[in-house]
Amino acid sequence: MKNSRRDFLRNLAASGVLVPLAAQNLQAYPITTDRKLRIVLCGLGNYATNQLAPGLAQSKNCELVGIVTGSPEKAAKWKEKYNLADKNIYNYQNFDTIANNPDVDVVYVVLPNSMHAEYVMRTAKAGKHVITEKPMSMDAKQAREMIAYCKSQKVKLGVGYRLHYEPFTNEVMRLAKDKDFGKPKFIETKFAWRNRDLKAWRMNNKWSGGGALMDVGIYCINASRYATGEEPISVTAQAIKTEPEVYRDIEETILWQLKFPSGAIASGMSSYATNAHELSIHYEKGSLSMSPAYDYGPLKGTTSKGPMDFPIVHHQAYQMDGFADAILNNKPILTPGEEGLKDMIILDAIKKAANTGKEVKIVMS
Ligand code: NDP
Repeated sequence: MKNSRRDFLRNLAASGVLVPLAAQNLQAYPITTDRKLRIVLCGLGNYATNQLAPGLAQSKNCELVGIVTGSPEKAAKWKEKYNLADKNIYNYQNFDTIANNPDVDVVYVVLPNSMHAEYVMRTAKAGKHVITEKPMSMDAKQAREMIAYCKSQKVKLGVGYRLHYEPFTNEVMRLAKDKDFGKPKFIETKFAWRNRDLKAWRMNNKWSGGGALMDVGIYCINASRYATGEEPISVTAQAIKTEPEVYRDIEETILWQLKFPSGAIASGMSSYATNAHELSIHYEKGSLSMSPAYDYGPLKGTTSKGPMDFPIVHHQAYQMDGFADAILNNKPILTPGEEGLKDMIILDAIKKAANTGKEVKIVMS
């Protein structure tokens, strides 16, 4: 039976798969529910241009009201295309004056990874709620600082984990909770794309914080957590370079094995040398297989009961309406900074395990 998005989110909340943080009174501005959430996109690259802006246009409860860009030519194009007011167009130098703009609720940071922390903090300092792209930071220490600072500024911090808002992923989460096929025992996750763009920030460790692991391996880590409904306790990992002349500064291919308290094992792979988009879960009494499992869609999958039959949705539109619901109605965000921190803790542990060749314990605190 097909469910609506609202049903999915309601069922998830009711199922307890997504455990909300204690509700806090986090409001930068008094907000009412009779208007849309007013968003400023910060960094007009590929993801902001081709996914988030169209997603905002399709969302029910959000509107793009402004931009932050270092490119005057992009500013002119976006102003015309999205009918933006001049006063809502910022560059990286005058960005902090957004504190004086009462017509902005949220800044969505879509910059290279190394810039997330700075722009999250500057947004929080300006008294605006903030969403940051994944990975939320360069490491767990920075993620903790971002969370603490946003709390001190009384603004909400969300991470753009779009899959948490779409139905196929919600079904994987439900199966972890309801155990239709028993407990998950073995998970296999792979996310890779062939990235040869030597000049891009993704190829530079200083900007990306790593290679494929930080970029797309993070989806596999997040999937291992929502497929089990557990947090891992240790990891072993192996980094491999088949083309060291291309992937000079970052890891190319990385494999890891996460152990969970129930005994479940999640084997992961991410790479810039090839293409892969898979999630397989082997339960006590059945299995689930999705491919693609992490793309913008349409996602596809089967379980032991047959094909997964769920609505194909615009991930970014659904995600943004999820953020709007949380922020306009002052509810907990479905994918808060704390969710991002857990993945950063695991990313740090995988890097350490690959570097040392030893099993690394994971402590989620
Ligand atoms: P791009 O390289 O396409 O865009 C980054 C933008 O950041 C640039 O276009 C530029 O915008 C701005 N920028 C400011 N300073 C710099 C700098 N020194 N070097 C490069 N860019 C700079 O990256 P993506 O859009 O692909 O990725 C941005 C973020 O979004 C990343 O953190 C990535 O992980 C995440 N992402 C998330 C996805 C998801 O599905 N959730 C999918 C893809 C990416 P301007 O010219 O306007 O200043």
